[in-house]
Amino acid sequence: MKNIQSIRGMHDILPEQSPLWQWLEARLRDCASSYDFREIRIPVLENAEVFTRAIGQATDVVEKEMYAFEDRNGDVLSLRPEGTAGVVRAAIQHGLLHTPGLKVWYQGPMFRHERPQKGRQRQFHQFGAEVFGLDQPATDVELILMVTRIWKMLGLSDRVRLEINSLGDKEDRARYRQQLVDYLTPHRERLDEDSRRRLERNPLRIFDSKNADTQAIMAKAPRLADALGDEARAHFDEVCRMLDALGIEYRVNPGLVRGLDYYCRTVFEWITDDLGAQGTVCAGGRYDDLVEMQGGKPTPGIGFAMGIERVLALLEALGVQQHQSPQLYLVNQVDPGRMLEVAERLRNELPELGLACSLAGGSFKAQFKRADRSGARYALVLGEAEMEVGQVQVKDLRDPQAEQASVAISDLAQWIASRIDREAIG
Ligand code: ATP
Ligand code: MG
Repeated sequence: MKNIQSIRGMHDILPEQSPLWQWLEARLRDCASSYDFREIRIPVLENAEVFTRAIGQATDVVEKEMYAFEDRNGDVLSLRPEGTAGVVRAAIQHGLLHTPGLKVWYQGPMFRHERPQKGRQRQFHQFGAEVFGLDQPATDVELILMVTRIWKMLGLSDRVRLEINSLGDKEDRARYRQQLVDYLTPHRERLDEDSRRRLERNPLRIFDSKNADTQAIMAKAPRLADALGDEARAHFDEVCRMLDALGIEYRVNPGLVRGLDYYCRTVFEWITDDLGAQGTVCAGGRYDDLVEMQGGKPTPGIGFAMGIERVLALLEALGVQQHQSPQLYLVNQVDPGRMLEVAERLRNELPELGLACSLAGGSFKAQFKRADRSGARYALVLGEAEMEVGQVQVKDLRDPQAEQASVAISDLAQWIASRIDREAIG
């Protein structure tokens, strides 16, 4: 019978990869805590309306990419294509927005029915953060500082660059949209097919076109920056001023429009040249109208989402690795029950210790081979005669010259603790 395979574009994260994932997740969690964000965990499945209303009917995500379906009750549900809409749904539902200043982060799988390729999966993971109820430019800047710090902690500062733009307020965008349509309509026939379709539905997205003719036309298009109202303009100027003062490098990209409808004012992306076409590793912006669109009281908001797989690809390209090995490997020539007993005793006394037992048994030679492969620092050798007198042998697996030491089982935990401590320090 043919083996069943995973769904195309949905990947297993295997035991050899998970240490790097966990390492990255711990860094992100710590950084979010240091900016006073708390974690929020929400379902991966929502009423599809949570997304269609927020993200916008005319966006790629809703038009083409959602995993939406009817469940057995006939309810239209969707796997989440992104995090923000669900976080907003939860914040309204649980009354979290009554006091301004809610700061939450999330992480987990997102689902989009896109063409799988390098840097683009159908199940991918995001780490994201959202701030509600604060509309001061300093809020935007703090969020940008947090992501900047993340790159620094990960050693990726040189690999990514920040681009920002302002989308203005709703009215600015509506006015600009009309200007853009007026400008583009005479050029309609020269636009690529996708852009022609966007002309009616979502003309700002035409800036995203990779088509050279379309790009040439867009280069001469009226600029959103010139259509900003006074308040949005002042907000953006203040954000830029603070970034300058803080020494954060960025480029204002007037063509940066973001793919989701709910954005306004400040939007930003961190881009890398190291990953080919899929170069955006983190993206976000303000969404001051979203809470109201989702049925809550008008509440400003801002957030970002980072593509974990793309960050991992950058780390891997730099040769960053994480391994998980036991510290101790128990090799055994006695009753395996006695081995488990020694192991349990050690775990009681040293709960932090990583400990592997040679469950498969076999000759000493075979067991030592497995001990070496395990990556453990020490092998504990449980021999018949020594066990009789309450002793075991300890062998340093990384130093073949080192003598095997005999240690009393009663002193074992202390002996190991002192070695491992010393290694952790020096
Ligand atoms: P793209 O332009 O790459 O399609 P997007 O604008 O659709 O990105 P967002 O919705 O802003 O992306 O998601 C934020 C981040 O999540 C992206 O910058 C990227 O790092 C990651 N991401 C988005 N879609 C995918 C995917 N299909 N596979 C892997 N990562 C993704
Ligand atoms: Mg996309």
